[in-house]
Amino acid sequence: MRFSRLLVPTSKETPNDATLASHIYLIRGGFIQSVGGSGLYNFLPLGKKILDKVRAVVKDELDKAGCQEVALSFVTPATLWEESGRLEKYGKELLRFKDRKNNDFILGPTHEEMMVNLVRQSVKSYKQLPLNLYQINLKFRDEIRPRFGLMRGREFLMKDGYSFHASEEDMHREFALMEETYKKIFTRLGLEFRVVEADSGAIGGSGSKEFMVLADSGEDTIVVCPDCEYGANIEAAVAKPKSYDADTEIKIITMKALYDEGETKIVHFALPVSIELQDVKACNAVNANDLVECEESTDIQTLVVDAALEGIDSLNAQEKSYADISAVQENDACIHCGGALTYTKGIEAGHIFQLGTQYSEPLGCNFLDENGKSVPMVMGTYGIGVSRLLAGIIEQNHDDKGCIWTKESAPFDLHIIISNIKDEAQVALGEKLYETLKSKGVDVLLDDRKERFGPKIKDFELMGVPYGVLIGKKLADGMVEFMTRDGMIKEEMSSEEILSFLEGKF
Ligand code: ATP
Ligand code: MG
Repeated sequence: MRFSRLLVPTSKETPNDATLASHIYLIRGGFIQSVGGSGLYNFLPLGKKILDKVRAVVKDELDKAGCQEVALSFVTPATLWEESGRLEKYGKELLRFKDRKNNDFILGPTHEEMMVNLVRQSVKSYKQLPLNLYQINLKFRDEIRPRFGLMRGREFLMKDGYSFHASEEDMHREFALMEETYKKIFTRLGLEFRVVEADSGAIGGSGSKEFMVLADSGEDTIVVCPDCEYGANIEAAVAKPKSYDADTEIKIITMKALYDEGETKIVHFALPVSIELQDVKACNAVNANDLVECEESTDIQTLVVDAALEGIDSLNAQEKSYADISAVQENDACIHCGGALTYTKGIEAGHIFQLGTQYSEPLGCNFLDENGKSVPMVMGTYGIGVSRLLAGIIEQNHDDKGCIWTKESAPFDLHIIISNIKDEAQVALGEKLYETLKSKGVDVLLDDRKERFGPKIKDFELMGVPYGVLIGKKLADGMVEFMTRDGMIKEEMSSEEILSFLEGKF
């Protein structure tokens, strides 16, 4: 591609609302463009190209693992979500609308119902199972606080996969296969990541794992053991139980629990005074959709006491139960090996769930088993935030000048700069390298613009193609520079040898 023909509106200006490196550089590098600052983005040619490259890696590994790609209708009839019972539950993130005939629709934030509907119409027998179907398609979630650019958009690209099985064991086999497949995807994309145990959130089901891209800017806190493999999102993390004695000071936290159809309930949580309440665990303990802070202090009717206090506390309430509601703290002992747990930050880039029959049962997605009996299919579901991955790659790979794309995500393999477009020898060498490498399948960007050298090198730094060739003044002495973007390392090379060097490298 010739830079002179490329739409890549790079800029020196940091967008007002941007604090994260990935947000700043994806906009400044001309990859994406904000649409009115509300979690909506246009992908410009280079952003689209990177998205396609990431998508291709995801597709390649999934297809190799035997998954099949489909494309589901983006607009979902609300009736399907009524069948699963999620229409009420999902809350305000769900965008609902009516068509001209007054029928209700939603924009899919996730597609369990749609995929179950597809399968229940076409799969009838155990002989057709197992199946793993996926799509790489838009999702819409009316996030309360869209922010950080592609990290938390309202419209975003997700790979969502769903597997269907004749037995629980077979679903476990597929779950393990997806874990391995996801590891291959994240490794190929050049990411440093960790697979952790997770809470299952609004999707439901039991047993889920998240793929966390490690970054200080990540919104998730993950608890890791330095001595063994244990890692978990703080929402699901457990440590070796602590023992408390009878005079342990106990605190009580009051919250308002939110349920379906606008119902609410005041709930109380009791735990040792030194321990923090973990909101997600607390929410799960009272089967609520959400918990919000609450000033009201009423009689204690519903009380959940931290499991560590069982047999110790003497609290009274009409309805009292014990559950793990405490946040694991740094230096707590690992449940597996006793190691001192530490916190680290991560970006949730993927999430895989063991679902069971939670959707197949209400939606009647049944099959005839070997004995001719009709039973619901056992399901798994597997997501990757494809557009969020672009942000994750840049969070891990940037410096104070701009992006540094990894090999499989880079918009080009090589970025050639002709420093002075009026210098015939520079132009001739640039054109020769460009045409020859291009004919050999190397994806080359040739900066042939009538611009000064300064903006050209700044664009190289900002855009982050992993390698570059600088054809400048030194060509008069028979020299050019080969540049490695990571570290901005420049090596002088003979202009006679540069072509064969590049042919060997790519
Ligand atoms: P989060 O906790 O970050 O809100 P989630 O747990 O709601 O995410 P899932 O339902 O597990 O998300 O969706 C699968 C994947 O989609 C996530 O692992 C994440 O990578 C991506 N994703 C979710 N929400 C967004 C968003 N608003 N913008 C971009 N990607 C997203
Ligand atoms: Mg998730």
